[in-house]
Amino acid sequence: MSPAIEITGVTKRYGDLTALDNVGFDVAEGEMFGLIGPDGAGKSTLYRILATLTAPDSGTAAVCGLDTVKDYSRLRTMIGYMPERFSLYQDLTVSENLQFFASLFGVSIKENYDIIAPVFAQLERFPDRKAGALSGGMKQKLALSCALIHRPRILLLDEPTTGVDAVSRSEFWDMLSTLREKGITILVSTSYMDEATRCERIALIDKGKILRVNTPEGLVAGLDENLYNASAYRMFELLTRLRQLPEVDDCYTFGATLHVVGRKGFDQVAVCQKLQSEGLEDVRVYPAQGDIEDLFIKLTR
Ligand code: ADP
Repeated sequence: MSPAIEITGVTKRYGDLTALDNVGFDVAEGEMFGLIGPDGAGKSTLYRILATLTAPDSGTAAVCGLDTVKDYSRLRTMIGYMPERFSLYQDLTVSENLQFFASLFGVSIKENYDIIAPVFAQLERFPDRKAGALSGGMKQKLALSCALIHRPRILLLDEPTTGVDAVSRSEFWDMLSTLREKGITILVSTSYMDEATRCERIALIDKGKILRVNTPEGLVAGLDENLYNASAYRMFELLTRLRQLPEVDDCYTFGATLHVVGRKGFDQVAVCQKLQSEGLEDVRVYPAQGDIEDLFIKLTR
């Protein structure tokens, strides 16, 4: 079976800036695939290419076996694209927005209601509310309903959870799992590393380059070996001191603690005692579990 999305050697420049640099990866039919990277990594540029809104300078991208440049008009009916900024018409109501997108694709809401039902259910109570007056989480559900109403085979979601509260974010990922079970292929981007684990495979992207493609588990395998948590009463002093130690390869803030990458022979007890003897209070150093964020730091430093 050919991949649902096939990206080969895609490069895109804006003047002197290379937004995408020889990008390539495949997304399988029915897969939930994540594109993970910080702001400015090139995610939206890649989405615009896949959504047939711009062409690569070199390389090719195919969606459902159709070339995004040559076959753009056939392709547009097969993809549902939710851009990073809300695609909704703020002055139109919930039902008017949905009706507008349905009529763009020549479908009726009734015939395709089953596909949007898991997402739209919570919006049914406010059919006459203007999109601009909805909360962030509700806007996101309406935008997703509008992207789905023509029953696309592929969903392209560009940072759908940015700026949305934690509960709505979690609900949103549950809805994506439901859509995936219906057989829709999903390419979703995020700059929240914790969301990566909700995908079957992910590509890490930074400065226009794909750094790694793997399952979330495959990516973090082996990261724990020399990784430690560290904390002390005076955290900044701890960070500075740890960075000076020859047995420390790297040290960075990680949530409320520090993560320390030890070199071969790193001894957590000895390090702890040494720092205490130098006057740092309440020093703790203990093994940490590595995640995608640790890998990102490792690959981009
Ligand atoms: P992301 O979605 O990961 O934040 P983008 O694809 O939006 O990244 O941007 C990648 C890089 O390309 C950034 O440096 C951005 O400033 C630049 N860029 C994006 N769109 C344009 C454009 N239309 N003109 C010039 N530069 C752009």
